[in-house]
Order: sequence, then C-alpha cells, then structure tokens
Amino acid sequence: MPAEDAPMIRLEDYRPSDWLIDTVDLDIVLDATKTRVRALLKLRPNPHGRPGAPLVLDGDELTLGSIALDDVPLDPGLYSATPQTLTLASPPDRPFSLRLETELDPGANTKLMGLYRSSGVYCTQCEADGFRRITYFLDRPDVMSVYTVRLEAAKAEAPVLLANGNLVAAAELPGGERHFAVWHDPHPKPAYLFALVGGKLDHVRQPYVTAEGRKVELAVYVEPGKAGRAGWALDSLVRCMRWDERVFGRNYDLDVFNVVAVSDFNMGAMENKGLNIFNDKYVLADPQTASDGDYASIEAIIAHEYFHNWTGNRITCRDWFQLCLKEGLTVFRDQEFSSDERSRPVKRIADVRTLRATQFSEDAGPLAHPVRPRAYKEINNFYTPTVYEKGAEVIRMLKVLIGDDAFERGMDLYFERCDGTAATIEEFLDCFIETSGQDLAHFAQWYEQAGTPTVVAAGRYDAAAKSYTLDLAQSTPRTPGQPQKVPLVIPVALGLVGRSGDLPLSSISPALKAGGVVVLDQPSLSVTFTGLSEAPAPSLLRGFSAPVRLELDLGDAELLRLFTADSDSFNRWQALQTVATRALVRAGASGDLGGLDAKAGELAQALEGFLAGPATADPAFAAQALRLPGPADIAREIGKDVDPDAVFAAHRKLAREIGAALAGPLAALHAGLREAGPYSPAAGPAGRRALRNEALGLLALGAPAEASRLTQAQFADADNLTDRLAALAAMTLIPGEAREELIARFASLYAGEPLVLDKWLMAQALIPEDGTLDRVRGLMGHPAFSPGNPNRVRALIGGFAANLTQFNRADGAGYGFIAGIVIELDRANPQVASRLLGSFKSWRMLEDGRRELAKSALAMVAATPGLSRDVADIAARSLA
Ligand SMILES: [Zn+2]
Repeated sequence: MPAEDAPMIRLEDYRPSDWLIDTVDLDIVLDATKTRVRALLKLRPNPHGRPGAPLVLDGDELTLGSIALDDVPLDPGLYSATPQTLTLASPPDRPFSLRLETELDPGANTKLMGLYRSSGVYCTQCEADGFRRITYFLDRPDVMSVYTVRLEAAKAEAPVLLANGNLVAAAELPGGERHFAVWHDPHPKPAYLFALVGGKLDHVRQPYVTAEGRKVELAVYVEPGKAGRAGWALDSLVRCMRWDERVFGRNYDLDVFNVVAVSDFNMGAMENKGLNIFNDKYVLADPQTASDGDYASIEAIIAHEYFHNWTGNRITCRDWFQLCLKEGLTVFRDQEFSSDERSRPVKRIADVRTLRATQFSEDAGPLAHPVRPRAYKEINNFYTPTVYEKGAEVIRMLKVLIGDDAFERGMDLYFERCDGTAATIEEFLDCFIETSGQDLAHFAQWYEQAGTPTVVAAGRYDAAAKSYTLDLAQSTPRTPGQPQKVPLVIPVALGLVGRSGDLPLSSISPALKAGGVVVLDQPSLSVTFTGLSEAPAPSLLRGFSAPVRLELDLGDAELLRLFTADSDSFNRWQALQTVATRALVRAGASGDLGGLDAKAGELAQALEGFLAGPATADPAFAAQALRLPGPADIAREIGKDVDPDAVFAAHRKLAREIGAALAGPLAALHAGLREAGPYSPAAGPAGRRALRNEALGLLALGAPAEASRLTQAQFADADNLTDRLAALAAMTLIPGEAREELIARFASLYAGEPLVLDKWLMAQALIPEDGTLDRVRGLMGHPAFSPGNPNRVRALIGGFAANLTQFNRADGAGYGFIAGIVIELDRANPQVASRLLGSFKSWRMLEDGRRELAKSALAMVAATPGLSRDVADIAARSLA
C-alpha cells in the first residue's frame, strides 16, 4: 500500500484486544544473516474482547517458517501469512498455544528497528512497533506477557548474551564453540519493552541494595576497551536509584539492572525492562571525550530510563495515544532529579530554553498537535517535544495547582492502583482528583488542545488606595485541525517586587491561591492587591509556572530593576531576556538596526553591574544571564514574514556591541575563572567553566583579535573537552586562517573518537556563513562521517538544518540539500529521515521568497515515489 494511503488510527476507535498472550517463550539463535527465532505464545480469549473473533497477529517484513497450534502443525488452509500479518480466521474459542518460526537478517536491517547489528553487536529496538519485525505478535502495549528468552550464539562472536529480567541458566554447548543463556522476566510487559543484546562487550559493575533490602547487580556494558568511560553512567545510576527511593518511594524489582551502549541507535535510549539500551553518546564519558554538557545529559538520561521502570514499565500505556502518560511524567521526574543534583534555577532555565526552541516552534507550525494526539498515521512521528517536554510541563502545573502534598499522595495512589496495568491519562488524573478533592476536568484540556497560549498582562497602581490591579487575559492561536480554542487553566505564580524586595500579597480575589499563584481559568480576569505603599513591579510566571508566552506592559527600566531585585532566579534571567528579545524582534522584523546601539549600552551596563556584584557566586546562573536569546528564538517571536538574514544581522550587532562594551570585564572573567585543579564534572567547576566560556564567546564577537589569541591559548592549555570545544565554538565566530588551523588541529587530536568528531562536524555545520553548505558537502566525504549512523547524520546534516541563515538561504539551496538527503536516507532509515524532514516545521513563518522555495522542496519530497510512511506523513502534514 502506498504510504500516503496508510490508515489513520484514532483514539476513539480503541477497543481491547480480542486475544491476550499470557506467556512468551523465545528461542533465538543469533546469526549475522540468518537468525532463527522460535516463539511459543500461550494465548487465550480476552474476556473484554469480542467472542469468536479471528486472531490477527502483527508482522513487519516477516516470513513465516513454520506454525503449530497446540504442538500440531497447522493446515495451510487454516491460516494466512503475509509479511504484515498472520491471521487465523477461526481460532479455537479457548486457551491454546502457537509455535511460530521466523528467520531474520540482522545485518541487513538498516532501519534499526527490531533486531539489528551495531558494530558487530546484536541489539534490539522495539518501541513503538519493532517487536513485530522479530516474530508475529499482538504488538500493542495493552497486551502484557511474561517472557522467557533463550539466546544462543557462537562464543567468539557473542560472549555476552543479555535479555530482560534475571539470568536463570547459562552454559556452553557440546563442542565448546557455542553457548546459550536463558533469561526470565517475571513482570508482565508489552512487547515494546522486549530487548536482547549479544556481542563482545566490556563492562563495569557494582552491587546495590535497595531501600527494601533487595540485592541488585548493576552493570554498564560498552564496546571493548571503553570500560574506563562507563563509570559516570554507573555512578549516575546509583544516585538516581537512591533518589527514586527517597523522593517517590520507588524501589527496583529485579536481581540485575543492565545498561548497554551501542553506537548505531535511532534515539537517545530505551527503557527495556531490566536491560536499558543506550545510544553510546549518553553513556560514554571521560574528561577528554565528554563535555560538561555530556556529563549532565548522561546523568539525566540514565535517570530518565531508570525512572521508566515504574512510570512506563510497571505501569504502561493502554495505547500509543497515551504516550505522554509515560514520557511527560518521566521527563518531569528526570528534571526534578537533575534539579536536586545541580542548581534548580539553572536547570529550569535550560529546560525552558529547550521547551521554547523545540516545542513552542512545533506548536506554532504545521506539525502542531496536542500532548495527547487523537489520530496518527505513524506513531514514530509523535515522539515529539510536545509529548515529552510539554507533557512534563502539564505534570509540573498539576503539582502547582493541587499542592505538593496532594501531588505526592496522588502519585502514591497511582503507583498502587495502576501497578501491572496499561493505563490512560484519565486513570492517572483520577488519582489526583481523589487526593486533592479538585475537579480537574477543565485542567485536562491541556492534554487535548494544541498551541501555545499567550497571556497578556497589564497592571496599574492606585497610590491613593494603595492597591495594584493586575489584568490577565489568555488566548491560543488556531492550530491544524483545531480552529476553535477554549481557555485553559493557567497557574500564574507571581510576586510583587518593591524597592527592597518582595511585597506581601494580599487580595480578596478567589483567583489568588496559596503560595502566590493566580489561577487564570477564564478568557480574562483581574486581581486587586491591597496594602501596597509603593508601586510594585509584577514578577509573573515565576519559575515559568506554565508553558505560555507572556506579554507584559512593563518597561525595559522596570525589567532591568527585576533583573537585580527579583527574588525569583528564573524571572531575573527572564527579565534580561525580555529586554533583549524586544529589541531584537523590533530590529529583526524591520531590518532597522539603529535602535540597537542604545539597547546594547543598557544591557551592557546591567550586565557589568551584575558581574561586578555577588553574581559570580553562582557562575552557572551568571553564564545563563550572559547568553542572549538565539536568532531562532527571535525568528519564532517575530512569527511571520521572517527574513532570517535580518534577524541574524540584528542578533550579531547586539552581541558584538555588548561584547565590545564589556571586553575588559569579560577578559578579566576569562582569566579569573581558570580552574586550578584537575578536571571534575561536578556542578561547581562545570558552572565556572560555563561562565568562563560564555565570556569567551561574547568576546569573540566584541573583541575578535584578543579573543582569537585567548582561544588558541585555551585550546592548547585545556585538559578537558569542554574547554577545547568552547575554544572551537568561539573560533568558528572569527573567520580566517587561524580558524581553519584550529579546526584541523581539533580533527587530528580527536581522530578515532567518533562522538567527539560529531561535535566537530556540528560546530562547522552551524557556521553562519555562505560557504557552509559547501563545507558540509565536503565533510560528507570525511572519514568521520557515515550516512548509516544516526549520530553522524544528526551532527552534520541535522546541525546544518538548525543553522538559521544557511538552511534558510535566500537561493533555496539549503532546502534542496536537506530534501535530497531526506529522500536518500528514507530508503535506509525512515525514522532518521522523517526527523530530519521535521527541520522544515517553521517554513510558513518565512518571508514570501523563502516560503515558496521551502514549499517546493517539501513538495518534491512528498512527490517522491516509494516514500516510507514516516516521511510521507511528515511531508503531507507540513504541506497541509
Ligand atoms: Zn522516555
């Protein structure tokens, strides 16, 4: 069937499976080109299904070798098998067993779904529907089974054999050349959580005892020779397990927990029960090959996948429409963990930057969809920032609205009530309705309505009455398929800031809740605060209490006052960002850069005062304050008729002038923050490096000659990747021979380190100059690049697609380049190709010329015969 004719799958069509599978016994003999899979499935009619229904098992590119029902070979007239389905039209109306045999070619599996080989290691990826590429199955998350898996392989090729659960038997086979291992997972699970690994791997391990007293053996497996880089992942695992015991009362439930790093992986990592499989980028770390950012990501992703054991695995999703049930909640949990391990405000700022860059832009374009979509053609296209990041924001708002205590009791109730089930958002929310006594029906609209709401705020002070009235109004722009919008429940955490700090909040309005939260749940409302003897500056949306755009009628002078006086760190940062954003939006939209000089002066003065004060006591926060909103943020804020070159020119001018005005203090900061001791990835020194390197980046624009000298010295003296990478990034801002020399030195220094060279590829792909497209084309022939490896593609090609001015070249060559690569890549790996095509998501906001060019590139992709369902879906939705 042509991809564009793929059926639309709808939430309202959900019905329970007619059949259940209680146990699965797999016997898998691993071979690079002929892997034999024997499956024994114990089926029974589902009491909630239709009696007498046929049995239709899912497949994907499968060939049935043999089939037996209750151990008797099945007459060919009683079933039909295609690569996509295995159907028994009249199965027995009672429990029975099916024995199926299939043969796979893992070496030829370039889609990296199902069973494949990555650098000689057998591994699997089954979410969302990869298990059906291994054997015919009821491949849906509400069919949960107990698995026993026997793996057999040549010892020389795969000395390590892992699957989900606990190891129950392992031995050599007669002759001594082959061996097997049997794994049993006592916890019923959906097929998407199945995993196996076989290969030559080194490991580090550590015993662990849970708070409940269970002894667990933790291990991290990596490519031979890389065990020295697995320690941080193991350390992170121990810390997040303790944290989940302490904060959520969740203990681990098997005798082993294995993490395996592989180099060819479509996503970040996968939470398979007891056997997490990771993109090696999120496991391997040492000071020479991982940056501070990598250390933080590894910590967060190890935690995320581990936390899934309860939010995802023990309680899974009834259907894929409920994906945010496990993902939004688990992102919230990993964000909380990182906040506790590091600086909470800095983590929040970083998360909000990501949310705005990825989710707000998705919400504003043709791919916008609700946190819980109601229809899809290809579920792999819904592993999105909306489901993950906005899904986490919804949980965060729920906690703010019902309070910490009711939230904690609601989570406990959810764990108790839904354990072992495939649940829905409604079942999740019911727990919080019970513990809070609140009606959450209106709040639940956050799951259904796409688009980023805008909150407009205006305030007025009445000196005679000593009162301050705040008017709030909300609206949500229309999104594809949702022309009408309803008002949402928006918690606006706020403070009123006076000359010497926060003023008391006193109001008789019922909209003001405990903890200084105004709940905006109508199109508009006004709240009057009394007892104020001075005019306050409102500090709204503290801690970014809701995922909305805020427009407020505060002047720049008042915002700069909040930058120094607000008790809420997030809003201090936000105040400065808002001042810069307004100026850049004005200049970027009009092309008139004249007003930027004065604004640069004001911002530089505020930053100079900030850097001279106690700011550097929290260098990670200071680094965030120094970083201007990016050109893509400004383009998104402008929202229509965007000329990326004008936006970039405005951004460059403002950054350059601030850099020049602060050249002295920035250079002093750079000199003063140099670390004395050996490298440590801890939050303290990482924060100092972040500030020092942020200073270097601004200096590169404001005082390029001096920065070039400092950069080359930093590169030569550095004992860690973070500082070398920052030197490379700063140098890419300064065209010339010295830059090309540094680029070449970086490559030779890190030859043979693919994860580091990914960063090198990306740094070059992001250079905002006309020559970059040719440079990227050239780099595709470099030994560091490989089109079959998703990490390489994301670094070089994905990096280029994120380059605002070069992807959006006025001649359309950037669009043509990416479209061509998408078409080519789609034949081998549709998931990576469709992700890349998502780079076009903001094409409608561009000025006429670019919009037409982007549209024809998209149309060229859409018109290509033989597209995968993944790419056809993104192309069609982008153009709709
Ligand atoms: Zn996840």
